Amino acid sequence: MSFEVVFTAQADSTSSKHLLQHYRHDKLQEDLCFALWRPSTGQLRRAALIDEIILPKNGERTLHGNAGFEPGYLARAIKTAREKEAGLAFMHSHPSPGWQGMSVADVEAERDVLAYPAGATGLPLVGLTIGTDGYWSARFWERDDGEMRRHWCEKVRVIGPQSCKIYFNDNIVPPPLRKNVLRRTFDTWGHESQSTISRLKVGIVGLGSVGCIVAEAVARIGTARVTLIDPDKVEEHNLDRLLYGTVKDIGKLKVDLAAQAIRRNATAEKIQLTVLPVSIHEEAAYKAALDCDMLFSCVDRPVPRDVLNYIAQAHLIPVIDGGIAVETDSRQDNLFSAHWRAHIVTPYHQCLRCSKQYNSSMVVMELDGSLDDPSYISNLPPEQRRGNQNVFPFSLSVAGMEVNLMLRYLLAADWWPLVRQQDYQFVTAETYIINNECHPNCSFRQRRAQGDTENPSYLIEEKYTEPPESGWRRAWQSFIKIFDKVFWKT
Ligand SMILES: [Zn+2]
Ligand SMILES: [Zn+2]
Repeated sequence: MSFEVVFTAQADSTSSKHLLQHYRHDKLQEDLCFALWRPSTGQLRRAALIDEIILPKNGERTLHGNAGFEPGYLARAIKTAREKEAGLAFMHSHPSPGWQGMSVADVEAERDVLAYPAGATGLPLVGLTIGTDGYWSARFWERDDGEMRRHWCEKVRVIGPQSCKIYFNDNIVPPPLRKNVLRRTFDTWGHESQSTISRLKVGIVGLGSVGCIVAEAVARIGTARVTLIDPDKVEEHNLDRLLYGTVKDIGKLKVDLAAQAIRRNATAEKIQLTVLPVSIHEEAAYKAALDCDMLFSCVDRPVPRDVLNYIAQAHLIPVIDGGIAVETDSRQDNLFSAHWRAHIVTPYHQCLRCSKQYNSSMVVMELDGSLDDPSYISNLPPEQRRGNQNVFPFSLSVAGMEVNLMLRYLLAADWWPLVRQQDYQFVTAETYIINNECHPNCSFRQRRAQGDTENPSYLIEEKYTEPPESGWRRAWQSFIKIFDKVFWKT
């Protein structure tokens, strides 16, 4: 299990402004405050999502170089956390930059003074330290066999409108070495940015024409941890668009095909792949997606898009979505128009439902099977029918747009203009920037940073199990299958 803290930009800005206020006036004075957090639980990662800071009132803390809190402040913070069914986080500042260790006094304050009373919330205490450069470090305090155990976080992420900042714990995930194979990449954006890109955990949902190109790009820029999710198999009509697909691959799982290519083409020193041949609304894939730092939505169905919309809002994992729309004349004999777009989805961007990538009735229709019922589809108005037209160069373009939007979001300096959505019109060859926001009553707005309590209600519980690993077990299982066939004639 790995541990992590994720901030909304607003919570990061409120707390860091408070905690660093004295240093910014050249006074060597630490400060402290409390915050609320909500759990986001993946397969291998537990994240604390922080969106609400409880700043101290007058007299609730003492400042004497170090900083101390009065019991009344802690009591108020715990009471608020319990009322809001959230966990308690404690944060303080240090007079040096970068990832911070803990002094003996720090450990005593968190482990002996705070961790037990914080347990009244039903969730462990999360401790955080901020350095003078705004760099966060964090840990969870969990009760284990009667003792309070500290789990250092792997990283702290801040999700903003413009960019996402990631503060790594180099002891758990060391930065990459500059290797010759990535020389040009390092030279393009520098060591610091490459350290982020290399250590990022990227998930790709949908390994069709767009997803495979995204996977190839991600593998080439040195990303070492990649998760692939897609239940589909290669069919003959995919071969004009599927990057790695050949006639020999018909019938193979798309995720296996992509995994094989990534292993071959990756430039990271060691590639770690998680491969899930199931749909994103099956729990195994959903949980694996919650382990990621960035997700690509390369799907064209309403249910996966709805699931990813939940993840982006409730779990603070940015989703980069893309789509292609082609219009042909009524006999499907002439290209009339084509456009494709890519956009980022976080609580600071328009959600996928408000940007009309899907609607709720289509989600219901996909879940009850009517979306695949031909008689039903023929009665739909033309704009609601799923278009099947697409070509490889269009996929190439939208995949490039998606990957570049991710890079832009990771690398953006403060002065870069805000870009939520890009739209390319094939006929006029123009790219438009669209910065729309969610409808004021959008229900996804209330799901912001709520974590596990806001998972989609229709998730399918654990169905997928890892294939058996040993040759003997595999042989035994195929024997059982043959035995079944022979004796039960199934
Ligand atoms: Zn300290
Ligand atoms: Zn919305």
